[in-house]
Amino acid sequence: MLLRTKGKPINIKSALVGKVTRNPERLDENSFLLVEGSISELPSKNFIGILSRQDEYEVINSENIVFKIPTLEHLMEGDIVSVGIDGNINTLYRVNSFHNTLLATERCNSNCLMCSQPPKDKNDINNLYEINKKLIPLIPKDCIELGISGGEPTLMGDLFFDLLSQIKTELPDTEIHLLTNGRTFAWDYMAERLGEIDNKRLMLGIPVYSDYYQVHDYIVQAENAFYQTILGLHNLARYNQRLEVRIVLHKQSIPRLTRLAKYIYKNLPFVEHVAFMGLEYIGYTPHNIEKLWIDPYEYRDELGEAVEYLAGQGMHVSIYNTPLCILPENQWKFARKSISDWKNDYLPICSTCTKLNDCGGLFTWNLKKHSEHIKPIH
Ligand code: SF4
Repeated sequence: MLLRTKGKPINIKSALVGKVTRNPERLDENSFLLVEGSISELPSKNFIGILSRQDEYEVINSENIVFKIPTLEHLMEGDIVSVGIDGNINTLYRVNSFHNTLLATERCNSNCLMCSQPPKDKNDINNLYEINKKLIPLIPKDCIELGISGGEPTLMGDLFFDLLSQIKTELPDTEIHLLTNGRTFAWDYMAERLGEIDNKRLMLGIPVYSDYYQVHDYIVQAENAFYQTILGLHNLARYNQRLEVRIVLHKQSIPRLTRLAKYIYKNLPFVEHVAFMGLEYIGYTPHNIEKLWIDPYEYRDELGEAVEYLAGQGMHVSIYNTPLCILPENQWKFARKSISDWKNDYLPICSTCTKLNDCGGLFTWNLKKHSEHIKPIH
């Protein structure tokens, strides 16, 4: 799915954020006009600018324009985009999707073996914050769920709390799902400040990959990460934060999976949800594939044991990113259609499967690397 495009910019002096519309009647000070063909006369309204497919553009006033854009087809009425000084047009929010996510920063203090979005050491925090600050008030108030991811969002420092405060004010009815490695919350004041924001719709998804510190630290490639994350989880629980533990399934995490499940029940009983997640074949994973790959079919006994154990203790458990045909039927009730629409795909053989509509399928990038045991259910 196309989420970015580029054209030739005119007059754009700083990043602009606005909704798109093809209807000049709907233009307001927060919107861009999308133009497929030629435009005879500029609307007399106040609006942000024009995004056009035209090859040539005659500048009439000092309007903001991006022209010669290869396609605008992917943009729906009301989608929200950012337009950069270089003519890059990034889709920030899609009105027809339940899977919208704000990018907080691409910086991270961990460097996980299987990171799907490897960290970049560039100072993007202020730029992204300014874009998100403009974006949040434009998001429809009936938005059901919004993700926040990185990098590691807490590296924003004070801006992290400013962002969450703004979200609570602007989107009080939206479920917010924040992905963080949780390490920063080992410092009590960070958890306390989050507690002060007091957003009951905020859930933090935090990875714990092993019950043994050396294994976790190796997977996330950061010393002391295990102790920081566990302390962070406890601090967050003391300030009544809603928590989810996320476990990515691969060669390093599978051998101690049942022990990890028992550790979670014993030491983190306050978490609201535990998600066991199939491996994404993107980012660092292809480079570390020898260290990571196990066919999901091969670990289904370990996964089943861990899931059944936690569910048996009354904990809310899910299996993400795993096709139904890999799992024993008694575990289908834990499987969720977890893959965001823009990165979700199926194999050609899936077209004959009777469970196609119930199955979450694969990440688009996992079409290249998937279980050998995928086969239609009849
Ligand atoms: S064959 Fe395809 S649709 Fe059917 S369960 Fe397997 S992955 Fe899902």
